[in-house]
Amino acid sequence: MKLNEKNMKEIQSNGSKEYLLNKHQLNKIRSNYPRINLYDKPYIGTEDIRQFAYCKRKLYFRYVIRAPMKQTYKMEYGTEEHNKFQKEVSKAKEYVQKYYNIYLSDPQLGLVGLIDYFEFDGKEAYPIEIKSGNIPPKGLENPDKLQVTAQAILIEKNFDFLVKKVCVYYSKYKKVIDYPIRIEDKLRVMKFIEEINKMLTSEKIPNPTKNKGRCIDCECRNYCLRG
Ligand code: SF4
Repeated sequence: MKLNEKNMKEIQSNGSKEYLLNKHQLNKIRSNYPRINLYDKPYIGTEDIRQFAYCKRKLYFRYVIRAPMKQTYKMEYGTEEHNKFQKEVSKAKEYVQKYYNIYLSDPQLGLVGLIDYFEFDGKEAYPIEIKSGNIPPKGLENPDKLQVTAQAILIEKNFDFLVKKVCVYYSKYKKVIDYPIRIEDKLRVMKFIEEINKMLTSEKIPNPTKNKGRCIDCECRNYCLRG
C-alpha cells in the first residue's frame, strides 16, 4: 500500500501517540515514507558516532523515521555534575591550557561535536568526556571511546594539536578512564561517518546489534521490531 494524502490523514487523525507506538503503522511508514533527508551532506555529530557504535539501527529511528525519543543525548547527565567536574579540573594542572564546552566542526568530513573539556600540555591534547552511565565492558566495541575519538579528530583538524589519548570521566564511579587511540580508531570513526551517510541516503534499516542486552535500556525499543 502506498501512502497518500488520505491514508496519511487517517494515520495522523489517530493521534501521534498511537501512530508512534503501533508497529503495523510503523511498518507501513518504513516501506512507503518518502525521502526526508534534504541535505546534500548532513553533519554527523560525535554523539551520533557513539550511538552508531552502540547499535547501527538507532540513528535510523532518529534521523530517517524521526521518531521522538524520551531524552536528548546531552541531557543524560546533570549540568550540576558537569559544572562540578569542570571546577575540579580547572584547579588541577595549572601548567596546561584548558578548553571548555567547545563546539567544533569539520565541513570536509561532515563531522560536528560539542566537546565538554580538553587540555593541551604544549605537546598533545586530551579530550575528556563526562558520562553518567556505566563503564562499557571490555571485549566489545566501546561506543564512548569512539565518540571521544571523533572529538580527537575535530581537535586535530581545528587546532592542529596531536591527540594520542582520549579520556572519559564516569561520574557514577568518580573515575577517569584513559583510552590510547591509534590511527585504526580514527579510521574506524571515518568509516562510521561514511556508513551513516549511506544509511541516511538509502534510508535502509540497518541490522540490529548482535548484543541483545543493549536493547533492554534502548530508547528505540518501542519502534524497533527487535525490541
Ligand atoms: S532495540 Fe536493540 S536492535 Fe533496536 S535499536 Fe535499540 S539496541 Fe538496536
